[in-house]
Amino acid sequence: MKPWGTPLSPAAARVMLLGSGELGKEVLIALQRLGVETIAVDRYPGAPGHQVAHRAHTLDMTDPQALRDLILAERPDLVVPEIEAIATSALEDLERDGLVQVVPTARATRLTMDREGIRRLAAETLGLPTSPYRFCDSEDELRAAIDAIGYPCVVKPVMSSSGKGQSRLDGPDDITPAWEHAMAGGRVAGGRVIVEGFVDFDYEITLLTVRAVEADGTVGTRFCEPVGHRQVGGDYVESWQPQPMSPVALSRAQEIARAVTGDLGGLGVFGVELFVRGDDVWFSEVSPRPHDTGMVTMATQRQSEFDLHARAILGLPVDTTLLSPGASAVVYGGVDAEAVVFEGVAEALRVPHSDLRLFGKPASGVRRRMGVALVHGDDVETARAQAALAASKVTARPA
Ligand code: AMP
Repeated sequence: MKPWGTPLSPAAARVMLLGSGELGKEVLIALQRLGVETIAVDRYPGAPGHQVAHRAHTLDMTDPQALRDLILAERPDLVVPEIEAIATSALEDLERDGLVQVVPTARATRLTMDREGIRRLAAETLGLPTSPYRFCDSEDELRAAIDAIGYPCVVKPVMSSSGKGQSRLDGPDDITPAWEHAMAGGRVAGGRVIVEGFVDFDYEITLLTVRAVEADGTVGTRFCEPVGHRQVGGDYVESWQPQPMSPVALSRAQEIARAVTGDLGGLGVFGVELFVRGDDVWFSEVSPRPHDTGMVTMATQRQSEFDLHARAILGLPVDTTLLSPGASAVVYGGVDAEAVVFEGVAEALRVPHSDLRLFGKPASGVRRRMGVALVHGDDVETARAQAALAASKVTARPA
């Protein structure tokens, strides 16, 4: 990145976030603190990141022409995809023509936007351990694939996030409902699914991995302490850091993360999702950006995953030091309403060592993530209990 100066002047460094939810909002704040001019893009007005950026745009980011036109009108120094549903072909064209730099790279954004690109890269190109898998375009193909993979297994749309359209199958009676659920939950119509053998893991982690410029000018790979998390219906409910691991499992996890992020390339934070049983580690997937389970780092690390991402993408040094164990617990809306009032915020913040983020989403849903409670503490178990307590104090009601 060139030297930069005053935002909103010709000397500014301009960074555009494609996707401005709760994670994008924190990246935008981290960039603002470094004096960067920020541009927030999301598909709906009033998105969390729209509220903290210098400029806000509302756009269907799956429309390649609209995305291209906006990027060419703004001419940011960096484009930072924060969600998967993006017309990555437009990003690849603009990057190839030298018109924009995509974080970490346009190729990484394309490969990780659906489960097929990244799974084939990890398992077939890099030879990393993954669950057995097949891709299917019809219920008949799914049936045949499961004959090979066996039960239990997991079916997911190739284009989906946060467990949407995902099912666990324990026998043949589950195939039709799983297929229908996947078709309803995928991001694009006429869906394709992945079926994966079920991994009976002891625990799962997100290994936040940072590619950043080192003092000697080379790109180094640094790891945060592993983040443990618990998912319900494929959606993260709580996370904690550090997740204790055997030295062998930790070093295998780091090897896998180094291999996959090294292939994807570029600069920034990657959330590498791994399953662990004993000393065995399986690659599950990777986000080329901060990860929702990594919100815990706002309570635990000297530099949160958002600070790390902002610094790394600007070519600045990073520090992945853990300051304290801690935990995060999601605050759900609990109610369907256009605008809400939160009760219990003071009570939540009276929980010792607690903090809270309310994302400012314009509409609430029963299972919509509206905030997160953050706690640091002497040990992970106490922090988890306190984070759950703090989150439970906050409730939303229609305004
Ligand atoms: P994903 O959307 O692929 O991250 O899946 C969401 C969650 O579902 C994961 O974090 C796991 O808890 C669970 N899951 C997904 N795939 C598998 C699998 N092959 N075996 C066991 N659990 C899985």
